[in-house]
Amino acid sequence: MSSGMITDIEVISFRMPTSSQGTKWGYGEVAAEHDGVQSITRISTDSGAVGYSTGGVHSYFYGASSAEVESIIKPMLIGQDPWDRELLWNWMAQHRGISEGLLGNIDSALWDLAGRASGVSVAKLLGRARTKVKAYGSTAPNLGGPDVYARLARACKTRGYQAFKVHAYIFMDPRTMTPTPGKPASPREDVEICEAVRDAVGPDMLLMHDPWGVYSYQEAVYVGRELERLGFYFYEHPMDERRTEPYRRLCQELDIPVCSPELTDGMHYSRAEWLLQKASDIGRIDVNFGGITACKKAVDMYESFGVPCEMHVGGHGNAAILGATTEETCEFFERGLLYPGVDYDVPPLYLNTPCDPMDEHGFVHLPDGPGLGFDFNWDYINDNRLSGPEIFVDGPDVGVGTRQALP
Ligand SMILES: [Mg+2]
Repeated sequence: MSSGMITDIEVISFRMPTSSQGTKWGYGEVAAEHDGVQSITRISTDSGAVGYSTGGVHSYFYGASSAEVESIIKPMLIGQDPWDRELLWNWMAQHRGISEGLLGNIDSALWDLAGRASGVSVAKLLGRARTKVKAYGSTAPNLGGPDVYARLARACKTRGYQAFKVHAYIFMDPRTMTPTPGKPASPREDVEICEAVRDAVGPDMLLMHDPWGVYSYQEAVYVGRELERLGFYFYEHPMDERRTEPYRRLCQELDIPVCSPELTDGMHYSRAEWLLQKASDIGRIDVNFGGITACKKAVDMYESFGVPCEMHVGGHGNAAILGATTEETCEFFERGLLYPGVDYDVPPLYLNTPCDPMDEHGFVHLPDGPGLGFDFNWDYINDNRLSGPEIFVDGPDVGVGTRQALP
């Protein structure tokens, strides 16, 4: 199949209201609502085929900047065959100026292009395993005391979730509810929240806890044993992931499965080292780490070892990986982050439909394409455009539209 040669790569950036600040504590910081920037990367070809990927304030995905696309990506990819994904991935992965996030953004757009050109979803291109995935509700951190989490957990159970993950106090002093740089963590207060959540939902709901790496080894052992007492399902990213040795000892010490590494660079290569070290019981990755290509290599490697791998966060790219992998390896779709009183089911302004609609039994029905299945609200995007071309789509969005440059 021919989709021509790559002729252009553009970044369309636009305003998106957000309350996530992400500057002071490093994680989960909530601010007053303000304008953030969301972006779409668009790869086009001389045959008219196009591919998209997204990044920015909505979701956790790397938004390519027009500067890095102009200076690094375009000189490499213009004139290349977009179907040579493996060749292009290896070339970009070797380039010292290309981060794993940027690589993931471009790689995902190439997969989207191939799916759109074929008229099928990326999951089908990879070999589809399923159309729906069990979700867990993933809380934002620092929401308040145990009662707040207990109410949110009950609301999630009523909504249909079969599983619920706690992010408790992260870089936050629970006594003053003010940011605490670095350590100390709050292991006892975190356990109080986990205990309240278990009491609120009863014995059957699957529960997880993710302190986002703030514990010392001793704190991690203490909390892990408490989670075992409370019947939690897995224990995610308890310590700094730059060291594997404490993780190896923690896995030996605890019965509850430890799920990591979430934030370690190195894509499937670093996950292979963690597997060799037996440093976690469940792997973790997302498309920020080298895109669809690297994530598929990672989940297939984990499957070969009989080790599960949980995809980090939602999004269309991770949804494609989940659709092409069995539940034995990738059990859950992470839905969130959830805040009390915020309706997560309302799609973000730049999409007509979300990537993760969930039924009353707690299953996310995966996008069915073509490509990654983006359903862009081009009216919103064009009206709030900051840079890049204006896109008009008339009929199926395969890239044939009228475009005009910004004045
Ligand atoms: Mg996590």
